[in-house]
Amino acid sequence: MDASQTKVTWEGEIVSVQPRSTVWRYLVDNRTHREIGYNVFVKGEAIGVDDGAALEFAGRGGSAYDFCVAISEKQQEKLCFRIGDRAKGTAWTPLYPNAEFADLYRAGALKAVKRSGADAPEMAVITDVEPCYDGTPIPRVFSSDYPGPPWAVAAPPLDVYSWRGARMLAKPCWKGKCFRCVWAAMANVTIQYDFDRNLVRNRFEPFCYGPLTCKNYKMGPARSVPCKGFSGVKDEGWLDDICVQWRSRPDE
Ligand code: SF4
Repeated sequence: MDASQTKVTWEGEIVSVQPRSTVWRYLVDNRTHREIGYNVFVKGEAIGVDDGAALEFAGRGGSAYDFCVAISEKQQEKLCFRIGDRAKGTAWTPLYPNAEFADLYRAGALKAVKRSGADAPEMAVITDVEPCYDGTPIPRVFSSDYPGPPWAVAAPPLDVYSWRGARMLAKPCWKGKCFRCVWAAMANVTIQYDFDRNLVRNRFEPFCYGPLTCKNYKMGPARSVPCKGFSGVKDEGWLDDICVQWRSRPDE
């Protein structure tokens, strides 16, 4: 816990917009993904409101950006931030930095200072094809109709991500070829280590919500899932198959 939270004003160029998600893991019995907003990656500057000093960030996501701002779905719906836009706002450093990948959250006073004007199309959400077995419409996006990979387009609504499900993505891919892709995500992961004493472990893991046929995709090494009383438990990829099992089109 970081008791010395700092309020900042920030401004800069958006270099990626990805879903902000949480994942709960228990052994390889359960991996539950939840999409709770968006992570906006910015090249720019954040200044402490109280002392006027520029903040230094840990750079845990690599050098492709200076800091990452967590925003809500409503904020993204309203502002539709895209790569190349110049944006500004306020935000706070996180209370629990080991559980929150974003460098800044509780964002407010958000504004698009300048739109990029670049060709970053909005992917149409289609709900009238292949509904659920009980007739419930599914919010689908057909990535293959848009330029990619990576899909550096406008990020779709969160229910699109939620329905698609995600596969583990190799960290070098997330940092490299995939960084600008709207299907990439660095999740805040909670591992249930001990149920009796409710002990958890936190870490960050990259995932991909993109087409199963994407040529950039690499799973990377199996991921260990520590749990009291069990050793050597690893997520070797078959949970991915369960997470994306509803997709009927591999290039979707
Ligand atoms: S592997 Fe996933 S995140 Fe990377 S470019 Fe392909 S769809 Fe995007």
